[in-house]
Amino acid sequence: MKVSYVALGSNLDHPQRQVTTALKELSALPGTKFLGSSSCYRSEAVGPGDQPDYVNAVAALTTEVPALQWLRMLKSIEAAHGRLRRERWGPRTLDLDILLYADQSITHELLQVPHPRMGQRRFVLQPLYELAPDLTLPCGTSVASLLARCPGPELQKICGPTLP
Ligand code: ATP
Ligand code: MG
Ligand code: MG
Repeated sequence: MKVSYVALGSNLDHPQRQVTTALKELSALPGTKFLGSSSCYRSEAVGPGDQPDYVNAVAALTTEVPALQWLRMLKSIEAAHGRLRRERWGPRTLDLDILLYADQSITHELLQVPHPRMGQRRFVLQPLYELAPDLTLPCGTSVASLLARCPGPELQKICGPTLP
């Protein structure tokens, strides 16, 4: 059993509902147990153009599924939410990113873990810290220290943790 932290984000088509539904779908994946999720936070889009705000959260799950298969399962949930990839960092109904997969460091064409941009993203670090304040990355850096160094204003909580 591996513990994996997954970041959820949506800024299209009822973002809060997309995230809540995705949490339920994650918890129903085979070989997987839902451990908990953070509150949902609102964040300003950082991608191209003028995009709606995001709803972001982080979930912790245990899974027996190997990492690449785990990624495929998350992508199938994104697809079921009508996710289209038009432009990089464009608006989306659902983004599911693997932040951490046990204590593994993975460099693969399709998968990099820890997620390579998580350390600079308040919309990832703030919910992750809420869920797992003592968590440390495989390199030894704590989530707390990454969050303390992360620029930008504190994100507003829009609803508490969901328990599917
Ligand atoms: P970002 O990765 O900067 O958050 P994004 O989430 O918008 O951008 P996507 O279009 O969702 O990017 O994913 C592009 C590709 O990134 C995916 O097809 C996937 O194979 C790859 N990828 C690499 N590492 C990861 C990871 N840790 N979690 C999810 N996808 C990953
Ligand atoms: Mg992403
Ligand atoms: Mg993604």
